[in-house]
Amino acid sequence: MQPAAGTLHVVATPIGNLADLSPRALDTLRAVDAICAEDTRHTRRLLAHFGVDRPLLALHEHNEAEVAARLVARLAAGESLALVSDAGTPLVSDPGFRLVSAAREAGIRVSPVPGPSAIIAALSVAGLPSDRFTFEGFLPAKASARRERLASLAGETRTLVFYESSHRIADALVDCVAAFGAERPAVLARELTKLFETVLDGRLGELQAAVEADANQRKGEFVLLVGGVGDDAEAKVVQGRLLYSKLAAHLPPSTAAKLAAEISGAPRKELYGG
Ligand code: SAM
Repeated sequence: MQPAAGTLHVVATPIGNLADLSPRALDTLRAVDAICAEDTRHTRRLLAHFGVDRPLLALHEHNEAEVAARLVARLAAGESLALVSDAGTPLVSDPGFRLVSAAREAGIRVSPVPGPSAIIAALSVAGLPSDRFTFEGFLPAKASARRERLASLAGETRTLVFYESSHRIADALVDCVAAFGAERPAVLARELTKLFETVLDGRLGELQAAVEADANQRKGEFVLLVGGVGDDAEAKVVQGRLLYSKLAAHLPPSTAAKLAAEISGAPRKELYGG
């Protein structure tokens, strides 16, 4: 295979199981002039496993802005480059956005070699509605910002998908229960395609308790999926209660409830005590 001159190939790599590298991804990595990688040592190990020997260029969040212009110049001069990240699909909570947008702006051909991504892998096995979903990436690390983000999502009707790390999964689940309620259906997909793959499903409260009770369930990499609020009426009540709790901090309860009911469309009597 001879990759087209001057093309940036955006190549997905495994999220755990190396056998998930596609034959076309392998062909592309073998054939390009150089491979831009988030962590060159990590990618070198992947390439060594497959016997690929191509020059590696570091492209990570700290140097991307500066390196992108140089890479676009190389592409414009006719080189073919591949972009990979440490795992899964580049640009999905990973570097590459600046390079891809700079390449597009310069009229360079950007071509995908699709493959693994934790979000799609998790969604495909979760059993939650997947016709519409919203990918929220990583939640903020700071507790106050995380709670605010979750509160703003409480009325979302689509399935919510979050990436989470082992350090924060327990806290994130506690905050999800507070924001969405213990009864919301949820799925926690851990270590997908790896030795300790586990997919827990149930209610948010049950998942939170399971993770709290078993330290093993806090190890590894996670995708957390939370079902959206059931129907429009339920969504309005969730939104109305959220509004009420904010307004009641500044207004008499009856005024807060009247305004929250008006804005959200939820029945006023449903908003007290929510
Ligand atoms: N670009 C990657 C993709 O396409 O999925 C995601 C990169 S992001 C920096 C890493 C996060 O993805 C992890 O913290 C975790 O939330 C999720 N993740 C990656 N691999 C995973 C796996 N094997 N099982 C579950 N989640 C995973």
